[in-house]
Amino acid sequence: APDTVQDASPPPPEAPAEKAPPADERANATFVTLARNSDVWEIAKSIRQVEDRFNRNYHYDWVFLNDKPFDDTFKKTTTALVSGKTHYGLIPKNHWSYPDWIDQDKAKKVREDMGQRKIIYGDSVSYRHMCRYESGFFFRHPLMEQYDYYWRVEPSIDLYCDISFDPFKFMRDNKKKYSFVLSLYEYYETIPTLWDSVKKFMKEHPEHIAEDNSLSFLSDDGGKTYNKCHFWSNFEIGDLNWLRSDAYVDYFDSLDHDGGFFYERWGDAPVHSIAAALMLKRDEIHFFNEIGYYHVPFTHCPTGEQTRLDLKCHCNPNDNFDWKGYSCTARFFEMNNMDKPAGYEDEQE
Ligand code: GDP
Ligand code: MN
Repeated sequence: APDTVQDASPPPPEAPAEKAPPADERANATFVTLARNSDVWEIAKSIRQVEDRFNRNYHYDWVFLNDKPFDDTFKKTTTALVSGKTHYGLIPKNHWSYPDWIDQDKAKKVREDMGQRKIIYGDSVSYRHMCRYESGFFFRHPLMEQYDYYWRVEPSIDLYCDISFDPFKFMRDNKKKYSFVLSLYEYYETIPTLWDSVKKFMKEHPEHIAEDNSLSFLSDDGGKTYNKCHFWSNFEIGDLNWLRSDAYVDYFDSLDHDGGFFYERWGDAPVHSIAAALMLKRDEIHFFNEIGYYHVPFTHCPTGEQTRLDLKCHCNPNDNFDWKGYSCTARFFEMNNMDKPAGYEDEQE
């Protein structure tokens, strides 16, 4: 053979088009997206990738939630793309407005101040309602009530690899309640009193704190201070019954009354992460190395060349954030005495 041809091997045979697995093998689960009508083309891109890489073989449902009614373009476009059933829900007013104990003048002054200090989304009212909704309400929307597991998908994400198994079923069969692909440190300016509020909750509700918890993921001094590590919640696969439990709802209510969603700019990522780390057992939290993922500006590209080849990943392994200094994922592995995937040493810089 001419030496310009390098080891050309025939492509593997096409996998036969799969039918959705029988209902008893599927989990009782749904995708869920919070979005505005103006997000339609960005969520279309996300859906297309979720379908191509996974859901075309499973046909899980998709719930869309919005503080305003979805328009026809949004509904038509997304229904055409999703292979399962689609559902469109309006968020009740009291889940997307100021609770009566919030001093709105004080909240406004905070926004002006945070805006001047150029803190990301610091001046935004809607972003605060969004974070509070994702923290405390999406899992209680009537459209979500029929499901046990959710997978959160945001606009403009990328999925880089085939998902060759059913992550919902994995969660169910392995009794996992929360999962992530990226973790990092939160901006301190957005959560200065969050940990005080959490400590108050822990004192008032010791019955909700798990014995074999992940406190050491969150704190380097036995719980005195928060190290700002959190799981990035724009990707989440989780257990809705856990979020609907007394433990989680008591936790959310306690934080909500302390006012930091409006007097600071608490994000749903640290709020979910702290809950998972304190109220779940360590082995109920799962890291999905196999799910290649991007949400601006971070990439999770699976560690391990064979994994990337087997799953037909199209991410650049050099972009993988997991083992870099600003990620908390190494800490998660160390805390759980888990072996890091082979090849991680090459990805630390
Ligand atoms: P970022 O990822 O933190 O930069 O925030 P995003 O702008 O991606 O918002 C997070 C999620 O909430 C996305 O799914 C958005 O589509 C959604 N979202 C943000 N603001 C609003 C809003 O005012 N109304 C609705 N319905 N969805 C919103
Ligand atoms: Mn986003």
